[in-house]
Amino acid sequence: MIPASFEYSSPKTLSEAISLLETSGSDSKILAGGQSLIPLMKLRLGSPSRLIDINNIEGLSYIRESDSFLRIGALTRMADLESSDLIKKKYSVINDAASHIADPTVRNLGTAGGNVSHADPANDLPATMLALGAEFVATGPAGSRVIKAKDFFVDTFTTALTHREILTEIRVPQYSPGTGGAYLKLEKRVGDFAIAGVAVQICLDTDGKVARAGIGLTAVGPSVIQAEEAEQSLLGQKLTEDTIGTAARLAAQASTPSSDLRGPAEYKKEMVKVLTSRALKRAYLRAVGGGA
Ligand SMILES: Cc1cc2nc3c(=O)[nH]c(=O)nc-3n(C[C@H](O)[C@H](O)[C@H](O)COP(=O)(O)OP(=O)(O)OC[C@H]3O[C@@H](n4cnc5c(N)ncnc54)[C@H](O)[C@@H]3O)c2cc1C
Repeated sequence: MIPASFEYSSPKTLSEAISLLETSGSDSKILAGGQSLIPLMKLRLGSPSRLIDINNIEGLSYIRESDSFLRIGALTRMADLESSDLIKKKYSVINDAASHIADPTVRNLGTAGGNVSHADPANDLPATMLALGAEFVATGPAGSRVIKAKDFFVDTFTTALTHREILTEIRVPQYSPGTGGAYLKLEKRVGDFAIAGVAVQICLDTDGKVARAGIGLTAVGPSVIQAEEAEQSLLGQKLTEDTIGTAARLAAQASTPSSDLRGPAEYKKEMVKVLTSRALKRAYLRAVGGGA
């Protein structure tokens, strides 16, 4: 349970951190909250040659709305997502997800940027960000680029970030009236990783029909899953038992869980159906209730 030896750097600026990434090679790693990286190193499942600790870089932790986006700095702690009044009021799906991640100690240290950059299919924020249609700002030697959530999550523990890039911001389209979301997670015990999780975000038009739907699935495949056919099935429809049932069935079809200690694959698929149906109903109530 002791990690292999490594070099440690604690840059004070983003450009210093990027220079370090450039010079120290592809087996260096960004250290944010350390809640995934340090356990992996202790188990010797990862042995980076250098850790570049970004905790002393100012200006990477914030939650604010500007220019049509909710902007979340990569170093924002998950506890801050959980306690933010702005998020509680307008982006319930993020509040639902953040408040069900692990325990308060992990949430106090773990960051939003680390949770998505780790690309663990069992982490709760990736599906949430897919449902929201989020974008990720990656900053590297050539400047910044924006990566859409659907292109960001490439495979298990693999994102579209290159080894010379740092995720600096998560952007979520700003709340508009008629929007509602929900994240539901089935777990064996409080604080555990999901058996299955479903994130939903819908936007209703003035006739009460679905103008946009986002559905992300946690822990039911080798990578986080966007249930695109389920999303499409809802467009232009009112939410009824029938349309919700169809979307829930399509979401379950999109899942590819494996059987493990958290349950058999068939059970997890069934749970995706149940959770999608419940999350859509909750999201709808929030959308029509003027919530989020
Ligand atoms: C006991 C326990 C239970 C947990 N349960 C859950 C759970 O139920 N749900 C859940 O979602 N998560 C859970 N986690 C994981 C937790 O949420 C992690 O904190 C999170 O996955 C990683 O965030 P971090 O800031 O700690 O990142 P770190 O551990 O510091 O880094 C993780 C990875 O992301 C990279 N990285 C971090 N920040 C950046 C960045 N800005 N740019 C580029 N790369 C970056 C690192 O190099 C590393 O590869 C649990 C963790 C523990 C220890």
